[in-house]
Amino acid sequence: MTTLTNLLDLDPAQLIAYCGELGEKPFRAKQLQRWIHQFGASDFDAMTDLAKSLRDKLKTRAMIAAPAVISDHTSSDGTRKWLIDVGQGNAVETVFIPEENRGTLCISTQAGCAVNCRFCSTGKQGFNRNLSVGEIIGQLWMAEFELRRTKGIEPGPKGERQITNVVMMGMGEPLLNYEPTVTALKLMLDDNAYGLSRRRVTLSTSGVVPMIDKLSQDCAVALAVSLHASNDALRDGLVPLNKKYPLKELMAACKRYLEFAPRDFVTFEYCMLDGVNDTDQHARELLALVQNVPCKFNLIPFNPFPESGLTRSNNSRIKAFAQVLMDGGIVTTVRKTRGDDIDAACGQLAGEVQDRTRVQDRMKKMAEYQEKFGKNFGRIVEISS
Ligand code: SAH
Ligand code: SF4
Repeated sequence: MTTLTNLLDLDPAQLIAYCGELGEKPFRAKQLQRWIHQFGASDFDAMTDLAKSLRDKLKTRAMIAAPAVISDHTSSDGTRKWLIDVGQGNAVETVFIPEENRGTLCISTQAGCAVNCRFCSTGKQGFNRNLSVGEIIGQLWMAEFELRRTKGIEPGPKGERQITNVVMMGMGEPLLNYEPTVTALKLMLDDNAYGLSRRRVTLSTSGVVPMIDKLSQDCAVALAVSLHASNDALRDGLVPLNKKYPLKELMAACKRYLEFAPRDFVTFEYCMLDGVNDTDQHARELLALVQNVPCKFNLIPFNPFPESGLTRSNNSRIKAFAQVLMDGGIVTTVRKTRGDDIDAACGQLAGEVQDRTRVQDRMKKMAEYQEKFGKNFGRIVEISS
């Protein structure tokens, strides 16, 4: 039995090569790519400008398959969250955040994460596996065309685009799943696919220094770095990767990246943890740390989860902290959160179900959780850039 090639796994160059293997010219690959990524087609028969002989060939050898949606919930303000099945009892989250002038999709790159940051529930579930290209780009494919269907907007380049920005801030460390992540990024930017500008695609990393350099050469999109601490001793305890790539190296990598970046600043994400990293002294230390790195700060109020043993800084502390940074001349925003009363925070939902029960039990539990928490959204609401 031949296995079908999932065309969502192929970047533009690979699709051209694939068509070549079928004896087709490169422009066929472009047509095919437009059908897939601009029209959301998964049925080869719908691709009317492709010769019937090619469509028949594709039907026997290829498929267009995004991962299955386990659940789908929309909050009252339009934020929509999908739980995506990536097999073997693993699930990841994809979140759409509509705003007045843009629609941002937050996508995941790994099931679980090996970095194991102290404040992150994705990290607490450990590393399960890397997502494939099809599973990463499939989140955008599924979300864009599902959002259009919901609104009755036609597919194709003329239909109003629902997703204008993508942030890789869901589950997983994108730079530890490098090749599939970069292939998916290339598809996001390609004019025959989603055609997003590099400024509108942001990759968030906990600081994998050599891969930051590699990304600057392969696909320099906007960069966000999860800083969370103002000195090495503190960061070693919060982001264990810091022991391998300490702050001095990280700051130097950020500066190098900016020579290639589409924006002239790096965004530093900083999770506000009560009594841990949130004093004025920490903010002053940050000012010294980043003095040579053009940057903005995005302060994220910690989204608590039971086993973390951490709590969120209160609002007045966050404000005072932001003020110290702003007085030091750094543009600083505070990410709004909602649904504080529930556990559906970053990676929380999928994390909660990642126990040792059998796959089917896990799936059932996932559905129950979504049922229970579905209308509430924990982490990302507004992504400032
Ligand atoms: N692995 C990448 C991207 C995914 S995490 C990274 O770490 O950058 C996206 C952002 O959410 C990171 O800045 C991360 O530190 C933050 N985050 C994780 N858990 C959180 C929590 N419980 N509360 C608030 N922010 C959290
Ligand atoms: Fe991984 Fe990012 Fe969570 Fe750290 S914050 S454990 S790098 S997903």
